[in-house]
Amino acid sequence: MIDGKTQLVGLIGWPVEHSLSPVMHNAAFDTLGLNWRYVPLPVPPGQVEAAVRGLAALGFHGANVTVPYKETVLETLDDIAPEATALGAVNTIVLERETGEPARVRGHNTDAPGFIEALRQGGFEPEGCWAVIMGAGGAARAVVYGLLQAGSHDVTVLNRTFERAKTLVIDMDVPEPAELHTSTWNQDSFVRATYRADLLVNATPVGMWPHVEGSIWPDQHPIPDHLVVFDLVYNPRETRLLRQARQAGARAIGGLEMLVQQGARAFSLWTGEAAPVDVMRTACERAMRR
Ligand code: NAP
Repeated sequence: MIDGKTQLVGLIGWPVEHSLSPVMHNAAFDTLGLNWRYVPLPVPPGQVEAAVRGLAALGFHGANVTVPYKETVLETLDDIAPEATALGAVNTIVLERETGEPARVRGHNTDAPGFIEALRQGGFEPEGCWAVIMGAGGAARAVVYGLLQAGSHDVTVLNRTFERAKTLVIDMDVPEPAELHTSTWNQDSFVRATYRADLLVNATPVGMWPHVEGSIWPDQHPIPDHLVVFDLVYNPRETRLLRQARQAGARAIGGLEMLVQQGARAFSLWTGEAAPVDVMRTACERAMRR
């Protein structure tokens, strides 16, 4: 029920109508008996600054930020948490209020810790690992940052557009003694890199609905069975890449757990409460079956 005391958070993006976040967060509020609601907030191009100012004026507690505003929203914020500064991207904003003062808007990034927690939930410990990341967009940045912070030893970024992978590698702070590389991408360099790795991450939309027959892995080579394969794509839940991995005897982890874990961290930043992660996961699974 929405009444005069309902507290609000939302999702800023364009488009936002297919997002699972409203279902996931509203289930969590209901479970904890919180009089809060999470609403989609479609923000047309050029309007993100006005939208953030509007959140403050309307008494919102915060919001998630999704495509295409994760980078541009930084210019509209009062404070940015260190991990969001390091990534150059924000996916969660919190409106901090002191009595009588205007709200201060602080940006966070929960994608990197969400990815690492999802890896651990899948039974993989990133410390000391060798990883190959396919893709160099916003999600790949979060994955690389998370792996390096978690103590991964060697991370290789491959991308269709080499320049973008090079920029990612140059921008990223690499803690000693870890190593971060890139090289031009082709089928052979990709497959060869994975033979030395423990972990392969797909951080591209390849394989996502409706193009479900796509996969970053070339058919003519088997996936090495020692690899753990993590696909950030969560729609469909069982992507072709995950099927290829399982068929080769490799461990496969889908992207839904990352969505849930990044959402759990945003939930706690807004409410100060531990998130009911199981409820959030079940709500997403149910919504995906509909
Ligand atoms: P993005 O910033 O647009 O980057 C997309 C990346 O994918 C770029 O590196 C791009 O290469 C590459 N790419 C796109 N189409 C490709 C193709 N046909 N073949 C090879 N590479 C291709 O997107 P993003 O925000 O990083 O998101 C990437 C994926 O991660 C999306 O599917 C998104 O849904 C998913 N994601 C999942 C979660 C989660 O919680 N599970 C969180 C964030 C993102 P170029 O540079 O050459 O264009």
